[in-house]
Amino acid sequence: MSMTIAFIGLGNMGAGMAANLLKNGYAVRAFDLSASALDKAKEAGALPCASAGEAVRGAGAVVTMLPAGKHVEEVYNGSVFGAADAGAILLDCSTIDVATARRTIAAAEDKGFAMVDAPVSGGIAAANGGTLTFMVGGSDAAFERARPILSAMGKAVIHAGGAGNGQAAKICNNMLLGATMVATCEAFAMAEKIGLDPQTFYDISSVSSGQSWSMTSYCPLPGVGPNSPADNGYEGGFAAALMLKDLKLAVEAAAAVNASVPMGGNAEALYQMLVNSGEGGKDFSSIIRLLRG
Ligand code: NAD
Repeated sequence: MSMTIAFIGLGNMGAGMAANLLKNGYAVRAFDLSASALDKAKEAGALPCASAGEAVRGAGAVVTMLPAGKHVEEVYNGSVFGAADAGAILLDCSTIDVATARRTIAAAEDKGFAMVDAPVSGGIAAANGGTLTFMVGGSDAAFERARPILSAMGKAVIHAGGAGNGQAAKICNNMLLGATMVATCEAFAMAEKIGLDPQTFYDISSVSSGQSWSMTSYCPLPGVGPNSPADNGYEGGFAAALMLKDLKLAVEAAAAVNASVPMGGNAEALYQMLVNSGEGGKDFSSIIRLLRG
């Protein structure tokens, strides 16, 4: 019989991830504070449970996909550690701060559980399509046990090192993404004001040293480069509010280890302005509208 997995947090991302576990033959016991999220999980074939404790009882693995560190600590300390079967493998896929990830994994290991932090790259479409990238922190043994479960939900599963290193990889990557997006938008806005046609600038820069993923895979200008959220009124894609969340985690982690991140700090301040202007639900490439003035 295939393994039973407890899945806690079936929101925008978790719903698709749990559906992919079901498609790959796992049985899923689901819990979410939201009744509508739980109903959707039931429709997809999961067994809805009345509490996190009930969901994890008897499961061989526990996957969590929660908003932030405080929810993760609450769910593990409040329910999972007390109710999970000895020998269950624990996987937290939420994006949270490195310190909380390390503290939670240390607490799990203290109680005899193997646990990994396994945040994802890729948005809701990748969660639904089973094409997420997982960046995993934890021991070699825990990683090997987590790998087949994560492979059922993603296209790439990469071991980033010890506990918390999955979160470290995620926030360093997204800080780089935030900074290159801001820089790309600045360059387009300035080129336009000088009188350089945006398409011409794209044609030149995309094959020159200013090229980046933000330019050639996710161009922030409508009608230029491949199809991107810019071509859809900045709807869909990766919300500016979530980019701000990741930049805050990055700047906080940098301060804790005395790393100098002036570009990351500026990107955080700019995304804070964008969110304050009421645009937090729009794709993060819409920062170009703020920079164009
Ligand atoms: P979401 O808010 O849609 O889903 C979170 C779910 O957790 C909700 O359904 C909520 O009811 C549930 N929840 C909260 N506290 C709970 C508790 N104590 N017990 C049980 N359920 C609880 O968020 P999301 O967009 O699915 O994001 C989840 C995580 O994935 C976040 O950490 C986010 O940063 C990360 N992430 C999101 C995206 C994206 O594009 N949405 C991309 C990459 C990573």
